[in-house]
Amino acid sequence: MTLIPETFDMAVTFDHPEFDDHEQVLFCADKKNGLKAIIAVHNTNLGPAIGGCRMWPYDSSLEALTDALRLSRGMTYKNALAGLAHGGGKSVIIADPHKDKSPQLIEAFARHVKCLAETYITAEDVGITAQDAEHMAQIAPNISGTSNRGLGDPSPYTALGTYHGIKAAAAHQFGTSDLKGLRISIQGLGNVGFRLAKHLHEEGAILIVSDVHKPNLDKAINAFDATMCAPDQAHEVECDIFAPCALGAGLNTRTIPQIKAKIVAGAANNQLLSAKHDAALKEAGILYAPDYVTNAGGVIAVAMAENTPQTRQEATDKSVAIGETLRQIFQKAEATNQPTGLIADQMAQDIFAR
Ligand code: NAD
Repeated sequence: MTLIPETFDMAVTFDHPEFDDHEQVLFCADKKNGLKAIIAVHNTNLGPAIGGCRMWPYDSSLEALTDALRLSRGMTYKNALAGLAHGGGKSVIIADPHKDKSPQLIEAFARHVKCLAETYITAEDVGITAQDAEHMAQIAPNISGTSNRGLGDPSPYTALGTYHGIKAAAAHQFGTSDLKGLRISIQGLGNVGFRLAKHLHEEGAILIVSDVHKPNLDKAINAFDATMCAPDQAHEVECDIFAPCALGAGLNTRTIPQIKAKIVAGAANNQLLSAKHDAALKEAGILYAPDYVTNAGGVIAVAMAENTPQTRQEATDKSVAIGETLRQIFQKAEATNQPTGLIADQMAQDIFAR
């Protein structure tokens, strides 16, 4: 007997290549309010899962499921190495934030999130604003990144952690964490990239900046006396450090041989096109600071239960400590002759799988 329609060609959750023993995958629908969403809770060994909600016009529900499974797994690793008492989760709403978002849709989603109050905390991500998070928080208690929970805009903490990650990488690769006089190419000058540029400029680094959005580019050139390059050349300009702070998948078979920098360390998520590019960077003699370790400052801020001088200090200290975590990863990678991304994954597994 088969119950599967002939037209069915979608990998169901347990057989999906990105399924990694996720604890819960919740398909949420509310036809009246146009909601189709997936919430994936990967692992709660360390505590309730935390990870933002993304609204994106996915081409198919399979693409949305793939994103939710991958992103939620990544959050488990990120949160473990950031020293948070949180597991990993992520949610995706299948909708165009510019066309489909409505108060009713946000409320319908929040009602589903509320059902997971014991296991999942969500916050802003691509397509979901601080206002949306505030709106959800009126319905569900397990929303962060609001005026009552989290530290507001997480970007300053992400930039601070990335800055300390870059210093740790420089100490390992060049023998000194002093960035004065080093040439650093920053790709993407948005919320994080611009703030990172400020830290680096204040330390005396020479900046080469790029962005597809001209106002952001002009602002950085003026503020930091920087030179510019084309966004698609940011990885291959003559420099010591390449800091990707725009979109993911920029480290791939085409770009890695073109990179002249000896370090890649930036805030962008999912920088490697695939896991094999971790090893490709090592073979090219480039020190890679694993992205989810380097950019954890944001979730550290979101994980704070309230916004007080103490929690702001705690988030600052934890963001600075990202440098020390990376130092350990670099040392282990060198001692075992393994790629840094693989070592980070192993260290995270040692923490959350205990
Ligand atoms: P943002 O949208 O504020 O900034 C992104 C910038 O990149 C924009 O200025 C955009 O014009 C530019 N850009 C887009 N495509 C580009 C390209 N091809 N070349 C050059 N520039 C390009 O985003 P953000 O909050 O600064 O986040 C940057 C990256 O860091 C993202 O990958 C994000 O997922 C990651 N990240 C952000 C946080 C956070 O706290 N905001 C936390 C963790 C990770």
